[in-house]
Amino acid sequence: MVRTDVLIVGAGPAGSMCAYLLKKAGVDCLLIDHATFPRDKICGGGLTYKTWHLLDQLMPGFRYDYNPVTRIRLSVDGKAQCTFDIEHPIRIVQRKLFDHALLQQYLALGGTFQQGALGQIEEQPDGSIAVTLKSGQRITCQYIVGADGSNSQVRRYLKPDTDRGILAMEQYMEKQDDCIEVLLSQSYDAGGYFYRFPNQSFDVVGFGDYTTTPEKFRRIMQENNIPEGKARGAYIYSSLDYPLHPHILLIGDAGGFANRITYEGIYNAFCTAQHAATAIITHRPFCDTNAPVFRRIRREETLCKLFYSPFSFTILRWMCHHPHLIKTIFDRKMRG
Ligand SMILES: Cc1cc2nc3c(=O)[nH]c(=O)nc-3n(C[C@H](O)[C@H](O)[C@H](O)COP(=O)(O)OP(=O)(O)OC[C@H]3O[C@@H](n4cnc5c(N)ncnc54)[C@H](O)[C@@H]3O)c2cc1C
Repeated sequence: MVRTDVLIVGAGPAGSMCAYLLKKAGVDCLLIDHATFPRDKICGGGLTYKTWHLLDQLMPGFRYDYNPVTRIRLSVDGKAQCTFDIEHPIRIVQRKLFDHALLQQYLALGGTFQQGALGQIEEQPDGSIAVTLKSGQRITCQYIVGADGSNSQVRRYLKPDTDRGILAMEQYMEKQDDCIEVLLSQSYDAGGYFYRFPNQSFDVVGFGDYTTTPEKFRRIMQENNIPEGKARGAYIYSSLDYPLHPHILLIGDAGGFANRITYEGIYNAFCTAQHAATAIITHRPFCDTNAPVFRRIRREETLCKLFYSPFSFTILRWMCHHPHLIKTIFDRKMRG
């Protein structure tokens, strides 16, 4: 039987950041992940200014590889297009390397990491929580931080009938240019867009909306003249419909914190990791420490309906003729 104050399940950006902040504050914690690192993660890997700025603050001096991109090409309905340069670059990372580097930051503090898959969670009469890993190993803790992504087992403990969210699919292709492409179309279901993110040595192209299927993904790739490649998909859970628990906290994708309009998720993975660490260190409820994120997500849920409405597409098409307006709004949004 292993004893720890905090068990963090999942060593993606949310879990590694939370473990790093807890360890730095001297809290006894154990980080587990069922994958062997470095492991891959389906993701565009775009770190917006607010994301890398927050990362710089939370992990000062952390160095990682990225491709800085400032040029964006936006296309609306195939009828209007504009290209503009943003104030601060979007840093495009390879998640396999980036997540591994984040984990190393925690390990460099002397943090404990173990490979293992979550099995069962049982709350004990004395208030502690007993966890059994799939290997049969037992761990007792005071807190569990669920950072195990969109298909979270920790969330399933709190809400067994949880759904899976939207399916986003990606493939790699030969590098084109150092310009991010975003394509919005009313022919996609509300809440979806096509994108191309240029990495250092290849491009990532992807699409996701509420009715994505491999066939639909292939069709959209063909429409955009993307050569056929190996497509991969992942769900992005986007709901806050689970009960909050004082000692079982959900962060990152496990808690459904990806942006409701863009599905950018690494920023809120860091924000919620920081807020969970603060809740544990200061013995305050997570609903208080994380209140700004809960409020932001609720606002986005309303805004999302407006953003993907026909009215908004008319405005966006008009704005393509005035790229400086789009740039101004984009720059402001990127700052957070
Ligand atoms: C196609 C696509 C493109 C995206 N593009 C971007 C982008 O450009 N920019 C951006 O900011 N966001 C993007 N996102 C969202 C982003 O990938 C996620 O928001 C981010 O990965 C969330 O981090 P996380 O740490 O919460 O979860 P994850 O990164 O999913 O990490 C979860 C970890 O938990 C582990 N785990 C899972 N289950 C268990 C278990 N039972 N036991 C132990 N370990 C477990 C996994 O192995 C994994 O390491 C994209 C997502 C998709 C699907």
